[in-house]
Amino acid sequence: MSQGREEYHSEEEIMPENQRQRYYLEQVQKQIAYAYENAPAMRAKMDRAGVAPKDIRELSDLEAIPVTTKDSLIEARRTDPPWGGLLGVPGHQIPRVYLSPGPIYDVQSTDDNFFKRWRRRMHAHGFRAGDIVVNTFSYHMSPAGHWFDEAIRQIGATAIPMGPGNTELQAQVLRDMKVTGWTGMPSFLMAIFKKALELSIDPGRDFCLRAISAGGEMGGAQIRQQLYDKYGIVSYDSYGTADVGLISYECRERTGMHVHEEVFVEIVDEITGKQLGPGEVGQVVVTPFDRCYPLLRFGTGDLSSYLEGGCTCGRTSARLSGILGRVGQAVRIRGMFLHPRQLKDVLNRFSEIESYQAEVSRVGERDRILLRIQIKGGGQAEHVMLETLNSTFEDVCRLRLDEVVCVSAEGIEDKSKEIIDIRVF
Ligand SMILES: [Zn+2]
Repeated sequence: MSQGREEYHSEEEIMPENQRQRYYLEQVQKQIAYAYENAPAMRAKMDRAGVAPKDIRELSDLEAIPVTTKDSLIEARRTDPPWGGLLGVPGHQIPRVYLSPGPIYDVQSTDDNFFKRWRRRMHAHGFRAGDIVVNTFSYHMSPAGHWFDEAIRQIGATAIPMGPGNTELQAQVLRDMKVTGWTGMPSFLMAIFKKALELSIDPGRDFCLRAISAGGEMGGAQIRQQLYDKYGIVSYDSYGTADVGLISYECRERTGMHVHEEVFVEIVDEITGKQLGPGEVGQVVVTPFDRCYPLLRFGTGDLSSYLEGGCTCGRTSARLSGILGRVGQAVRIRGMFLHPRQLKDVLNRFSEIESYQAEVSRVGERDRILLRIQIKGGGQAEHVMLETLNSTFEDVCRLRLDEVVCVSAEGIEDKSKEIIDIRVF
């Protein structure tokens, strides 16, 4: 489905590729120079690495600046409380501080670039001025509640700050206030719909919902599919962290997530720290163009990859494949990473497979991948299915399987582990 120009929030979303590269280089250079001058912790980090703002001539030069880890944020605040030298503006300009587990104290940015991302995302997900929107994210300690609330107001819509819990009241409010937009976690929307049916409220007839942003939880994609199958509800996901805010968002095509123009995202090899190309899985490392909280190369700890090719929606920004897991869970095989989520993505396409496990071993100097599958009802796999499995695995994981064997239920030890690594180095 293609979109008309009014579907875009700004012209930046459709800027030509060569212009986009120039734009990013210019923004990254400005941001690094600003952080170096104004955020002592970022300056110290660059000085330690022996890199100055003038050394960043190409986007690939960013590799010279070490990744800013979550641990380093905690350490900076511990040694230099309360702000850790991380702010790019005086502390009195910070309107709110949120708590992340750790504890990490995340600041509310006052840079307009911060909420520009939110306005764009809300627009892409169908929210418009005049909407009445229920926000079910928590308003306590963590940032999502306030961020969504502010975004709803900035696009000219009305917010109902419900927060989580109390599904009965939630269902009543959706009906009574003719609510048109909803934000929260997909599993919670499912719970509200179930409660509504118990109360003889028919979501299809009694609700006016038409714009739904349902994200923020692992496994959300399956629940969003169920919401569509059961209730015809189309909902959208996005990706961000409490530290840097929004990073990417789904468009109507829902094939990956477009990276916002106000952040520069690198996909970086977990071990070497080098930037990776499309299709390669690595850590999401983000440099937001934010003068208030100017983190350089913030390492999210999340794994993703850039998708190849453009999007049929017309936006020219690169797309992330979605979050494939956390750093440290992937197994490195023949120079590539194999993550449990990728494996799951492949195996879920074969309804005849009951359970599976990949075993990585080492024969001589070569890594070997054995895939054990248990066919539903026992028995052997069809030859055609095995061929498709092999080629799908290669497409998604960019690795070749060495052997696939059909086993009984007892043939898979410790089903909680999708990949076992028996290599000895
Ligand atoms: Zn798109």
